[in-house]
Amino acid sequence: MENKRKDELFQLFPKLLNIKKRETVFWENTKWMEKASSTSFSMEEVEDAEETLQRFSSYLRVAFPELQESNGFIESAVHRMNGMKAALEKHFHLSIPGQLLLKGDHELPISGSIKARGGIYEVLKHAERLALANGKLTKEDDYAVLATEELRTFFQHYTIAVGSTGNLGLSIGIMGKKLGFNVVVHMSSDAKQWKKAMLREKGATVIEYEADYSVAVEQGRREAAQNPMCHFIDDENSKDLFAGYAVAAKRLKVQLEKTNVPVDAEHPLFVYLPCGVGGGPGGVAYGLREMFGQHVYIFFAEPTASPCMTIGLMTGLHDEISVEDIGLDNKTEADGLAVGRASKFVGKVMETYISGCYTVQDEELLTSLALAMDSEGLFLEPSAHAGMFGPIQLMTNGRDFLQKHHLLDKMEQATHLVWATGGSMVPQEMRQDYLKKCSR
Ligand SMILES: *Cc1c(COP(=O)(O)O)cnc(C)c1O
Repeated sequence: MENKRKDELFQLFPKLLNIKKRETVFWENTKWMEKASSTSFSMEEVEDAEETLQRFSSYLRVAFPELQESNGFIESAVHRMNGMKAALEKHFHLSIPGQLLLKGDHELPISGSIKARGGIYEVLKHAERLALANGKLTKEDDYAVLATEELRTFFQHYTIAVGSTGNLGLSIGIMGKKLGFNVVVHMSSDAKQWKKAMLREKGATVIEYEADYSVAVEQGRREAAQNPMCHFIDDENSKDLFAGYAVAAKRLKVQLEKTNVPVDAEHPLFVYLPCGVGGGPGGVAYGLREMFGQHVYIFFAEPTASPCMTIGLMTGLHDEISVEDIGLDNKTEADGLAVGRASKFVGKVMETYISGCYTVQDEELLTSLALAMDSEGLFLEPSAHAGMFGPIQLMTNGRDFLQKHHLLDKMEQATHLVWATGGSMVPQEMRQDYLKKCSR
């Protein structure tokens, strides 16, 4: 980006200066609409995803014994976090009116992160397409046949490739190898060693880059384009990934109803979603607004070093601006969120859907990590802790927002839902390393 253009942007959007200085910011999205809508994505695609996952449930139950109990459904529970709420209130010297809930995607089966939604769905959908087209399967079959040697041998002729900061690669790799595919994962420099080791152990090919996520994705996309037998899972543009993530919202609606958590004009729901390139939080946010309409207020959470979605939405430039353009280095403990340039597809869809974004400092992520351990015995990876900071931001820098939307007097009946996006697969030694770094 030219310097002249940068100067213009800093003048037009003064908050960019705070972002440049790595300060935490709270940004309200003024394009938000009570009736959000998008022309590039529809609920039909989410319903298709739900049905596809349903067809695969018999296969998943056979392929992953851990899914026996849930009948082949990949889903996580919602937990009440009274201990963490008290710990946050004490640490930050403020009161958080309403109840604090956690959506436990860190404990999703198969790959222990939110990527077990979109990532696994896209692999399954691709496998189904290939098997149907080659007469290996009909939609009426029991999909458990996909676990047979014949089908595994069939999938060995095909390759799936992906670029990732870690968790998407893990999901695609585990699922793809289970079906029999060749899997190539292009890992950015942020990806943790244990994730690469685990993937190699499962038989995936891991290509490591010195550069960041955008480069890993671009390289992966280019290599895959040269191989007609290769399907590239495109984290920056994929509607299948997005649809897989969005399924979560329909299921959450049922979960909240079952536990008597109302969501309506008198009982607002605030959801805090850690954001990298945008697909995961975007898909979930899309689904949530379709389910709960104007009564759900959604905020994306990003590290101060990597606020790509915040600056993309704020300037309306989406993928035409990177965090490097405004002088940030995209280096953060939150490896899953170390993305310098947001998805244009997701950013554009989100324009009328989400209420805003905020940023968090790495030190605060680690503080939250320690508080959750002490108060709930809960371990989440640093990225997932970006969501924990939501209620704090809302009750401090978000006061004007609450007033403007006539929410101040409804906060006692509000629900804060922190989306825990990953952590259950992090090895014990790594957890200890994080805890050592924490200040509390
Ligand atoms: C990938 C990831 C996110 C964000 O998802 P995006 O689709 O990259 O925006 C958040 N938390 C964790 C732990 C992740 O792995």
